[in-house]
Amino acid sequence: MTISVTLLGTGSPIPSAERAGPATLISAGDEHYLVDAGRGVLMRLAGLWLGAGNLNGVLLTHLHSDHFTDLNDVITSYWILGPAEKPLTIVGPIGTQEVVDSILASLSRDVQYRMDHHDDLNNPPLLNVIEVTEGPVPLEGEVSIACAPTDHKPVEPSIAFSFSHNEVSVVTAGDTLPCPGLDSLCEGADALIHTVIRKDIIQFSPNPRGLDILDYHSSPEEAAQTADRNGMSTLIMTHYVPDLNVTSPAGDGQDWVDLAAQHFSGQIEVGDDLHRVEITKGD
Ligand SMILES: [Zn+2]
Repeated sequence: MTISVTLLGTGSPIPSAERAGPATLISAGDEHYLVDAGRGVLMRLAGLWLGAGNLNGVLLTHLHSDHFTDLNDVITSYWILGPAEKPLTIVGPIGTQEVVDSILASLSRDVQYRMDHHDDLNNPPLLNVIEVTEGPVPLEGEVSIACAPTDHKPVEPSIAFSFSHNEVSVVTAGDTLPCPGLDSLCEGADALIHTVIRKDIIQFSPNPRGLDILDYHSSPEEAAQTADRNGMSTLIMTHYVPDLNVTSPAGDGQDWVDLAAQHFSGQIEVGDDLHRVEITKGD
């Protein structure tokens, strides 16, 4: 009874030679769900010997570009290399259909080139786009998925997802302040995967745009409080701003863990891209 959480991309909008953009893989049984599709996501997925065709669904927490910038790559790769007759399912907040339509419009020449060139390719990418607000996410499969609204204002709407399989449950928060919607998913769940920024450092940024991000993200301390308030066993932090390597003397993020540990006594994880955490219950 295990759900595997793999941090595919632990970076942020700031380009990094070491970290891909925001993306997390949730795996249970034979199913794989991609949460957000940031820069380099398929390179990291390839690091697990998986491809777009292995995905049971792509779920977007919100429509900030760093969280979907490589969705076009997922769409094209699934179309060319994935199952021929099975649509790629993309779940996201209201506005997702518009974003996907725009991506398809940008790909229209490529789609035509490939259909003209490959005799066995007779249809454009098959997509199943589902916009959600709150409650169960209607996907086939053994993993039960639900969503709830988060607080990333002025980015609206934004949502978090829960994934439940054989009594194990994990929540992917995305970018958000602590909020009742996130709490509603976390209550009774085992692990929280939360994007975080170091507000104690960013508050001294000389860049006004750096200061702007303070009011719509959680800090490690706030993410820890959310996990603690809801009785969770594990907190996994990702989306490190500034980069994990530059804040901690050993480059291992221990200072991020120490901040969270002031508010949460469970297991706390940080890591580089492809860091995997197994959330297990029972046998
Ligand atoms: Zn965001």
